[in-house]
Amino acid sequence: MEPFVFNQNPRAGWIEVICGSMFSGKTEELIRRLRRARIARQHVEIFKPAIDTRYSDKAVVSHDESAIPSTPVSSADQILLLVGEATVIGVDEAQFFGPELVSVCQQLARQGKRVICAGLDQDYLGKPFEPVPQLMAVAEFVTKLHAVCMVCGAPANHSQRLVTTPDRLLLGAAEAYEPRCRAHFQPTPALPGPPDETQPAQAATQRAE
Ligand SMILES: [Zn+2]
Repeated sequence: MEPFVFNQNPRAGWIEVICGSMFSGKTEELIRRLRRARIARQHVEIFKPAIDTRYSDKAVVSHDESAIPSTPVSSADQILLLVGEATVIGVDEAQFFGPELVSVCQQLARQGKRVICAGLDQDYLGKPFEPVPQLMAVAEFVTKLHAVCMVCGAPANHSQRLVTTPDRLLLGAAEAYEPRCRAHFQPTPALPGPPDETQPAQAATQRAE
């Protein structure tokens, strides 16, 4: 899945995007790439939006609890100030940043840095979730991951919201969402109560990575 870069000019940077639905393993893939860069003694810095405090303030944490330290930032512009001498930049939950993330990543890549962004490519209505689509357009490498549909087991491209709220940035993973394929995705804000709504503890343990 990792982009193959042949004889890359050491001064040329590039942008990688890891996208997909919730529970598709985006953060795991981001962590895998960053760990391999660290093994090669590359200077790695990881940033995540300060808004996402579901698990830890100072770590990129995936749903399986494998974590690496990160720096929470309140805006994409802060990444430019904090990046220092790092040559490999990880950005998690890219959909929580504003449109300026695209120009920030472009600047970093032009400085010769490898920029890896992970984020949702669609919102709970199935609409493109900016700025991830814009990042995909300018990235050298795009990896789209899939979860498994919790209804039928097909590859899941959508994040089905299980609660009724119009908030696009609703946080919370297993309790509020489940992965669904195209056939079983219902992008309606007012959903009939799913069966697991009465058994939240059971729903929280059903994870399809
Ligand atoms: Zn399905």
